[in-house]
Amino acid sequence: MNLVLLGPQGSGKGTQAELLSHNLGLAYLEMGRVLRSVANSDNKYAEVVKNTLDRGELVPDEYVRLIAWDFINKHQGGVTGFIFDGYPRSLAQYEHLEDMLRKFGKKIDRVIFLKLSEEETIRRLSARRICEKCGEIYNLLTNPPLNMDVCDKCGGNLVFREDDKPDSIKRRLQIFGERTKPVWEKAKSEGVALEINGEQPIKAVHEEIVNKLTLRLRSGQAPDN
Ligand SMILES: [Zn+2]
Repeated sequence: MNLVLLGPQGSGKGTQAELLSHNLGLAYLEMGRVLRSVANSDNKYAEVVKNTLDRGELVPDEYVRLIAWDFINKHQGGVTGFIFDGYPRSLAQYEHLEDMLRKFGKKIDRVIFLKLSEEETIRRLSARRICEKCGEIYNLLTNPPLNMDVCDKCGGNLVFREDDKPDSIKRRLQIFGERTKPVWEKAKSEGVALEINGEQPIKAVHEEIVNKLTLRLRSGQAPDN
């Protein structure tokens, strides 16, 4: 089973991807993490990737496509499927992914969208703190540090990012919506769209996803959306 996970920042997408990967035996591609590690490396693409990430823009299609291809190629023999997080980010990328999977005789089985209201996104992101030293991200609501304002991993200072002010969050949500909408519409037209209420606790979100996935697998029914 091959899954694509969509959701705004603060939707707990990474956590859900890890749970699904672990519980369903799926190879997990966290595109954001791969791109950040490319940006911090001495790879010849490092500078371009870093600049686009810093500007909040999309990394050129051919780079993410290479990364995805390499990932699929490397893991396709040993796993029951894949979970993609942070990719695809546009309709063109979605169609690339379908093409690549087709070459291995695979397809996208479900596109899962973790839905979160604007108010809830702002509430969650306003509680974020980032370590000045190592970049570890905490959330005072869902993933607090052991000691207030101190990083558990390196002892660095935890700070509030300018980027997490309500106006910046609203702007990012708008960009996210504009980019994601065509992917979501395409998934709906292919009958693989699965919308999940992302405002529930982590465990409930995970259970809702698994229940909806397995229900459909058992019954063999066409998706109802
Ligand atoms: Zn730290």
